[in-house]
Amino acid sequence: MKAVVKTAPGEGALALLDWPETMPEPHQVKLRIGAAGICGTDLHIIRGTWPSRPPVVLGHEFCGTVVEVGSAVRNLSLGDRVVGSNPAHTCGHCRHCRAGNDFMCAERVSAGYHIDGAFAEYLCIDARRCHKLPDQVSFREAALGEPLAVAVHAVIERTSVHAGDLVLVSGPGCVGLLTLQIAKLEGARVVVAGLGRDRARLECARRLGADAAVDVEQEDLVAIVRELSGGEGADIVYECAGSPPSLAACWQAVRKEGTLVPLGIYPGPIQTDFNQITLKELRVMGSYGYVWSSWQRAVKLLAEKRIRASELVSHEFPLERFEQAFAVTANGSAVKVVFLP
Ligand SMILES: [Zn+2]
Ligand SMILES: [Zn+2]
Repeated sequence: MKAVVKTAPGEGALALLDWPETMPEPHQVKLRIGAAGICGTDLHIIRGTWPSRPPVVLGHEFCGTVVEVGSAVRNLSLGDRVVGSNPAHTCGHCRHCRAGNDFMCAERVSAGYHIDGAFAEYLCIDARRCHKLPDQVSFREAALGEPLAVAVHAVIERTSVHAGDLVLVSGPGCVGLLTLQIAKLEGARVVVAGLGRDRARLECARRLGADAAVDVEQEDLVAIVRELSGGEGADIVYECAGSPPSLAACWQAVRKEGTLVPLGIYPGPIQTDFNQITLKELRVMGSYGYVWSSWQRAVKLLAEKRIRASELVSHEFPLERFEQAFAVTANGSAVKVVFLP
């Protein structure tokens, strides 16, 4: 089968190769990939700034059709349409695994960088990591399942947004635009902030119902947030950009006794005004992955058409055009790029 493979550590080393197909183990199913999304993490892996174990097939956001079923699988049958989640393997015994938060497991192994992922025609995956898709959810929509589960976990499970809240989402990427939509469903007013090069993404935020979409290079974000909140600042801030200047603006925009959620991943240790946590008596809540219930809710929101997922898909490519697909993801002109293998 064809697969997009990171062939060596360091920068680049990416190729479309003829890659061996595997057979499902007893607890696995084999999926024919329907759609697989490119995520910011993939760019880090390609640049060599995210730990991966080459040679490895990339791709960790995926959905597809079950074409083979392992002998021990009871919950899925041939022809089922599913969206797959990571991690691929965890220990099953540590406190995090036992509590259902296996993203925190020290032995977590993820498809798409530790072991082979979904930028390929087929993938074998543990059946327990699959969530069945109702007929009304297309593969194009389900390709957004993973970032949607991340946003559900952050907005509904790690924090709680209430009607009447003013929410700031800094960083209008895929997770940011899904965070916007969930916060709107919860009844908040939402400001989305981005850079000049994010113009298409800010326009998308406006279409999706943002109360303000702010280009921070042209407008004064903190002044706009203050004006919308009677001078107080935002009740909850989701920092989705993973950039130090964005975080600096978030410390200023959040109100006293408010909540700040760093959702983006920074390039490494950063300098930031940590005193704001104390001086403003802030709650700072980390949110990284998702749990089973995040996925259950994500699939339900897609099925009920309460999240406009397919509008976020700006580009679709076959695997053969992987170089172009990664290029439009990197230059910021895309919202979400998916492969249709
Ligand atoms: Zn991702
Ligand atoms: Zn564990």
